Amino acid sequence: MVAQILIIEDNEANLELVHYLLEKAGYRLSVAVDGAEGVAVALRVRPDLIVCDLQMPVMDGYEVLRRLRAAAGFAAIPIVAVTAYSMPDDQRRVKQAGFDGYLSKPIEPETFVASIEAFLAPPLRARGAAPQR
Ligand code: MN
Repeated sequence: MVAQILIIEDNEANLELVHYLLEKAGYRLSVAVDGAEGVAVALRVRPDLIVCDLQMPVMDGYEVLRRLRAAAGFAAIPIVAVTAYSMPDDQRRVKQAGFDGYLSKPIEPETFVASIEAFLAPPLRARGAAPQR
């Protein structure tokens, strides 16, 4: 079955863009607009993948990651950071924190879905959206 993806993003324009791109590709989506809501929705919905902004009010992306990795059943769920930071140091920090991957803003509509699908097992990818490997 096609993946359920949770988007955690406080910026309305980015949230709309990411939601639009993933929905158009055929994914089932949940959204949260701050870190605390993101953790709550994740625990309830048990998504197959989480796209998480780093800079957010209430709770940032690093704290979201820490809490979810500590939750039962979340050790292996891919959590991908999306951030305006694009310095090599930030990328290293994101990986060291335990995120599975890192995408920088601005979101590139042409490549975003494929970048996300790289973190999904093939049976969870939307039909026809990802190139067969
Ligand atoms: Mn933000």
